[in-house]
Amino acid sequence: MLRKNTADEPSLRTGIILKNGGVKRVSRLLYGARIAGCKVLGPGNRAVLWVFGCPRDCPGCIAKSFREGTPRETTVQEMAEWYLAQDAEGITISGGEPFEQAEALAELTEIIRREKDAGVIVYTGYLYEELLDRAKQESAVRRFLNNIDLLIDGPYLQERDHNQPYVGSDNQRLLPLTNRYAGQMSYYTEAVGRKVEIRLSEKTTLLVGVPGQDQREIWRRVKKLNDTNVET
Ligand code: SF4
Repeated sequence: MLRKNTADEPSLRTGIILKNGGVKRVSRLLYGARIAGCKVLGPGNRAVLWVFGCPRDCPGCIAKSFREGTPRETTVQEMAEWYLAQDAEGITISGGEPFEQAEALAELTEIIRREKDAGVIVYTGYLYEELLDRAKQESAVRRFLNNIDLLIDGPYLQERDHNQPYVGSDNQRLLPLTNRYAGQMSYYTEAVGRKVEIRLSEKTTLLVGVPGQDQREIWRRVKKLNDTNVET
């Protein structure tokens, strides 16, 4: 039996009422989509999680459906089990805005790194300096940052979108926070052009990666043919 807290709990804690009347705290996660076997959002074979919700409204945002509409909801534990079942070098977390769910993602990354050797790459609209500031007050932000190997930071600025691989606009920085990907930065710096995957299912047409304008247009056409339930 699930009982959702309505109190001011930013981390979406939920209580499961136990048979003995006690309450076990469980973190919940709102997300838009998740996939395995991705080759276009970081080195190696990656799982990708797009969390739901973002306080910004960047003109030209390609993730509108992960900010508006109805999110998927699950427990951190279920998400960790999903990730651990994948054959992946690591996970890329994008959105939406991951740091709006810092508590749940701190927990998720702690679990998966405890169980497996997993590299964690995160795209955020915040600047690293802003996050370091928040981390002084918010332990969840601090814990989440401690589990990130590569942070790609900064908001998407349409006027600075010059088709650079792996970032939406040239203000966004690739910041290795550990050594894990520090020796593999040529994956980003020597890449030519943008690469995307289009994942088709009966209900959705998912555009994966950081797309250029031409790729967005192709995706729109494919989506028109395939979709009954649109996602980006
Ligand atoms: S930060 Fe990212 S998800 Fe949020 S509005 Fe900007 S581009 Fe979209």
